[in-house]
Amino acid sequence: MPLLPRIRPGANSLTSLNPPDVPSHRGIETFLPRKSPCSFRSGQSIPQQVSNKAIHPPPTHLPHTSPTVKLVKKTPSPTGMHNSTYATIMRRISVEEAEVNKVRISVKAPAKINLTLDVLFKRPDSYHEVEMVMTTVDLADRVDLMLIEKDEINLDCSASFVPDDVRNHAYKAAMLLKERYGVKQGVHIYIDKQIPVAAGLAGGSSDAAATLRGLNRLWNLGLSLDELAEVAAEIGSDVPFCVYGGTALARGRGEKLKHLAAPPPCWVVLAKPPIGVSTAEVYGNLRADQIKEHPPTEKMLQAIGQQDFGLMARSLGNVLEEVTLPRYPQVRQIKELMLESGADGVLMSGSGPTVYALVQKEAKVYRIYNALRGFVKDVYAVRILGEAELEVLA
Ligand code: ATP
Repeated sequence: MPLLPRIRPGANSLTSLNPPDVPSHRGIETFLPRKSPCSFRSGQSIPQQVSNKAIHPPPTHLPHTSPTVKLVKKTPSPTGMHNSTYATIMRRISVEEAEVNKVRISVKAPAKINLTLDVLFKRPDSYHEVEMVMTTVDLADRVDLMLIEKDEINLDCSASFVPDDVRNHAYKAAMLLKERYGVKQGVHIYIDKQIPVAAGLAGGSSDAAATLRGLNRLWNLGLSLDELAEVAAEIGSDVPFCVYGGTALARGRGEKLKHLAAPPPCWVVLAKPPIGVSTAEVYGNLRADQIKEHPPTEKMLQAIGQQDFGLMARSLGNVLEEVTLPRYPQVRQIKELMLESGADGVLMSGSGPTVYALVQKEAKVYRIYNALRGFVKDVYAVRILGEAELEVLA
């Protein structure tokens, strides 16, 4: 095997991933996160040039494209088949047609938010039976995968406090895939962490899913997304959803998915207070038989189906707020601040502590963003990913 240039930890640009001795259009997949023309995060005032760019509605800018993207977009959907289903099938075909002999690949791992999260009951196997509507947003980690000569898996992460061994979901994903399909090729995984950790945004799950998608191509396994989702279910409840991305109704432990259309386009302002919340602990403290208010899941499905933003904003709900809000007053304060600043709807995502505001009017995004800045360090203004943007995840 030729000696390969090492992917530099922290490499964040196309140039640094494509050194001159490796042609940029062969052997390397570059599903790099955009320099977020429509997203910004806290730490500084919103610069005017960012503000100007940020106002573009999402469908007008598409991420870096690849042959896969073109294949999906240029073929019309057969009549009667839902676009998401069709896109999924086309993605699978694209993966099967993927170029062989790749030596490295960069995969985008987007965060998810819960539009609803309901717990129906506690099962005899001690898992909770859930019903939740989840959607992918434009805040992403980048997972770089590179074949190495040694038959081993090793991992680096830009966030030093994230485990770099088998406790890392991405490592686990590589290990499972390698064992199950008898792969003899080693891989180096580098995770450029942008999604806050232990935040209710499924960052670790998305890294695992991105690793599965990327290794499927790098190791030339030819697996469908459905097959990858089966492996994903062994890693964690949210991982199957992250394999497909998009918007879905999840049932069971979260692994039974019904794909949905993309929600009406809007802004999502995310704020994470400086606390980490353990998902296991929150579920452990939930009394499923004593939940006071269940979210209106049916209304949420109707809102998405009818592209009714108002109904969507009114139908948000998460039963885990009953556990997290009383314990962490900051979470409630952020919700209140967002509402006072003009949010159309607010909710905690997953088990928290991240809270998000759905906003349709751009001017309100700035108001909410600026109101939160200073109060919390981690604030992001992003968009829900539409179907077009999702094609790059395949
Ligand atoms: P979910 O919404 O699926 O419950 P989360 O957003 O609340 O996930 P994560 O960011 O996935 O939480 O992190 C949960 C724990 O998983 C962390 O404590 C971290 O140590 C561990 N972890 C393992 N792999 C990763 C990874 N690749 N990125 C972040 N955390 C990871």
